[in-house]
Amino acid sequence: MEMITPNVYTETKIRGCNPSIVFTSEGSVFIDTAQWLSTLLEMREFAKKRGPIRYLINTEAHIDHIFGNHWFAGESLVVGHENLKNIFWTVADDKPCYEYSVDVLERQDPAALPLMPSKEDYIVNYPQITYSDRMTLKVGNTDFFLYYTPGHSDAQSCVHVPKERVAFVGDTIFSGCQTWLHSADIDALLKSLDFLETLEDVDYIVPGHGPVVTKDYIPKQRAFIYEWIAAVAKGIEKGWDLDECIANISFADRFPMDIGQEETMGYVQRTNVIKCYHYLTHKK
Ligand SMILES: [Zn+2]
Repeated sequence: MEMITPNVYTETKIRGCNPSIVFTSEGSVFIDTAQWLSTLLEMREFAKKRGPIRYLINTEAHIDHIFGNHWFAGESLVVGHENLKNIFWTVADDKPCYEYSVDVLERQDPAALPLMPSKEDYIVNYPQITYSDRMTLKVGNTDFFLYYTPGHSDAQSCVHVPKERVAFVGDTIFSGCQTWLHSADIDALLKSLDFLETLEDVDYIVPGHGPVVTKDYIPKQRAFIYEWIAAVAKGIEKGWDLDECIANISFADRFPMDIGQEETMGYVQRTNVIKCYHYLTHKK
């Protein structure tokens, strides 16, 4: 785990999202949950040593951000955007979520496999508190400002904690690793990146994946999205159809996948091409 400030911790070196903890004068707040169960449980114990875990905020509904919600059921209130409920715990990379999670544990965190409950006992743990545009959560001496930042998905939240000068932006930013556009609304994503630039009191940005960055990374993320669009635009100009774009366009050499997700490189390259192709041709 990495200490960003004495009250803010994150874990960027595991598979899946960057689960984080913010300590306040009255307990802690978790932001997203880890896919590697053993790391998640260690983080949970670490947080509990300094008081109750008051809330768990999910920045989106994809499996890599919500898988660990089960282990907070009945203990912490789950918070997130109202659209979370539409896609929470359905499929991940075309597989049912429970089976997908067990498969990840079997291959990457086998020691934690016995801790995985049966499918019947697994609590999906949907958010109990939702918001539509923005929300302020006051916990002890700390304010958490939640902003709706759609784009990567339609349930995306940014959590800004000015007191700690940290913004948790979820998958609106992937730093130093591949950007997933598979479920993106590209115009909304670019708008949300613009919005992040307007936030003040931010020294640290915790992205959904990859190392902690500063606001200087926002133009780089924007540029990479434009590179994707430009590459597909060039393909269309050459007369390539969607299949030809998929066959010929790849940014696989540009960034690695985030840790533990190497097997999804082909999926991300293909679905990013499809997304940009549809964006440019207005075809669904
Ligand atoms: Zn993610």
